[in-house]
Amino acid sequence: MTIVVNSLRKTYTAGATEHLAVDGIDLEIGPDEFFTLVGPSGCGKSTTLRCIAGLETPTSGQILVDDEDVTDTAPNKRGLAMMFQDIALYPHMNVIDNIAYPLKVRGIDKEERYERAREVADLMQIPELLKKYPGELSGGQRQRTAIARTIVYDPRAFLMDEPLSDLDAQLKVEIRKEIQRVHERAEKPTVYVTHDQSEALSMSDRIAVMNDGNIMGVGTPDELYEEPENTFVAGFIGNPSMNFIPGTVTDRSNGLVTVEAYGEEFELELTDGVQEDDAVEIGIRPERVNVVSDTEAGRFTGRLELIERVGDRRLATVDVPDGEIRALNLRERGLQQGEDVSVVFDTNDIHLFDGKTGDAIKHPVTYSKRGEAAQLD
Ligand code: ADP
Repeated sequence: MTIVVNSLRKTYTAGATEHLAVDGIDLEIGPDEFFTLVGPSGCGKSTTLRCIAGLETPTSGQILVDDEDVTDTAPNKRGLAMMFQDIALYPHMNVIDNIAYPLKVRGIDKEERYERAREVADLMQIPELLKKYPGELSGGQRQRTAIARTIVYDPRAFLMDEPLSDLDAQLKVEIRKEIQRVHERAEKPTVYVTHDQSEALSMSDRIAVMNDGNIMGVGTPDELYEEPENTFVAGFIGNPSMNFIPGTVTDRSNGLVTVEAYGEEFELELTDGVQEDDAVEIGIRPERVNVVSDTEAGRFTGRLELIERVGDRRLATVDVPDGEIRALNLRERGLQQGEDVSVVFDTNDIHLFDGKTGDAIKHPVTYSKRGEAAQLD
């Protein structure tokens, strides 16, 4: 069972203006993959999912489910189960009838309907709720009922659009686990939509990062985090966001490239990809950056503008002459806001991007002028 999206385009017409929601994207989702579409609000995630579901008609392009072209097939004939953010249980039906409803629509008799509804209610650990009505359920119970209803008729794949976004933090974690359990047990593709990159990273086998109707990068969570192919993916995946430091290639000789950024020189071992005077962006993740009060120790010096808590870690913002750098790998105690500090990182951890296109420039090894030992601690 696979889902393939070929050159999918979708435009919406509002009055005289045409709005391009999805700009010719391609996707291939494997037989038991948990595949997530992630990106900022309005980037086209839901439209893509709704085209796969059949709730929207593509302007052009094709949707294949298990090699069958379903582009013009009615949604209820595609065998795909869809779960939305708003749960929309039928308020006048009790839980067992809600769960069994998709079977009723498919003309399955009452005895079998109830038997299968009881089975999935057991699986979702809500067997004691079958006689209750949606108004009597907690948020988590409603969500479990909705998942039970989604899986009751053994769909070919699951499509989920922000199913966790209305839940509080604790419930999110609980229902996230249930969704993963259902996915693993079913061994079918799940296409999942979220704007939350950390949710995408923690749940998915693979992720497509979207922006403005396009796919900016596809890969496993590790691939997108470790080797983002452009500044958009690099900046979107990871929280707090990657630091970007604009620089210029000042020298290129003997297989080394010198980049000047914020007044500092970086020497990178780089065989091709850049020319002298090219604009580049250096990217460094805050979780790889340390801040120390010894102003001689690090790469950049500046004023420690702010220390704030991010979960159980401290995030420092340092004002350097031409911008700011954020650091999440603070090891020194007693750092004070307002003091002069230096910013320390291992140049092996930097990413390099083309300053014009934002595309990643591969660089196998990096060297620093001041020597790595001094950089690290
Ligand atoms: P996302 O799910 O990533 O937030 P959507 O797929 O919902 O984004 O929307 C993509 C773009 O298409 C947005 O600019 C949105 O305003 C527009 N759009 C979505 N649905 C409609 C619609 N029914 N009519 C007109 N424009 C729409």
